[in-house]
Amino acid sequence: MDIFTWIYFIAIVIEMIIRAPLNQKRRQEKMSERRVTGQEKTLLGLLFLAMFLIPILCAATDWLNFADYKLPDWAGWIGVVFLAGAIFVFWRAHADLGLNWSPSLEIREKHELITRGIYGVIRHPMYASQWLWIIAQPLLLQNWIAGWTNLLVWIIFYFFRVEAEEELMIQSFGDQYREYMRRVGGVFPKLGS
Ligand code: SAH
Repeated sequence: MDIFTWIYFIAIVIEMIIRAPLNQKRRQEKMSERRVTGQEKTLLGLLFLAMFLIPILCAATDWLNFADYKLPDWAGWIGVVFLAGAIFVFWRAHADLGLNWSPSLEIREKHELITRGIYGVIRHPMYASQWLWIIAQPLLLQNWIAGWTNLLVWIIFYFFRVEAEEELMIQSFGDQYREYMRRVGGVFPKLGS
């Protein structure tokens, strides 16, 4: 494995370490609203495939070698910078969202609308982090299948998820969320406000 593939898998481990404590604690939470559709489960499974299983397969076997390409080293290092940005944003989002985080669309009984910290800069930092990851992946895993499948899956996931999530948030928090949407951008900060 080359250095960039190593860095990719180290980043996955770091994200798992950031998420693990919340994943543990949230099991004890009582939920008041759960919207986990079959479509959502399928898309989450495809994301796991594209972010983790295909890259592992590509690194551990020679099955996907036919789709390899080679970029200059500087391109790989640009990928590392994007990946580091992704991890930073991912970490801050988990720190600020705390137990309100959920892998799918859920509202817990004690759900609090978070608008502080990184949620005061953008409304969807975890998704912004995934966009940064998506840019990094083809620069690090230099293979047309392992590098790019995640982009396809993510684009579909993102548009379904954000729409459903914002609808759920408006139903749960009403004008408080509408006002938050007016004030704070989605994955890009609103400039001049
Ligand atoms: N879209 C956010 C959160 C993703 S996790 C991000 O990209 O960082 C998905 C869960 O987060 C959903 O169950 C939703 O109820 C919750 N959520 C999303 N935005 C929130 C906010 N500002 N405050 C509290 N919970 C939020």
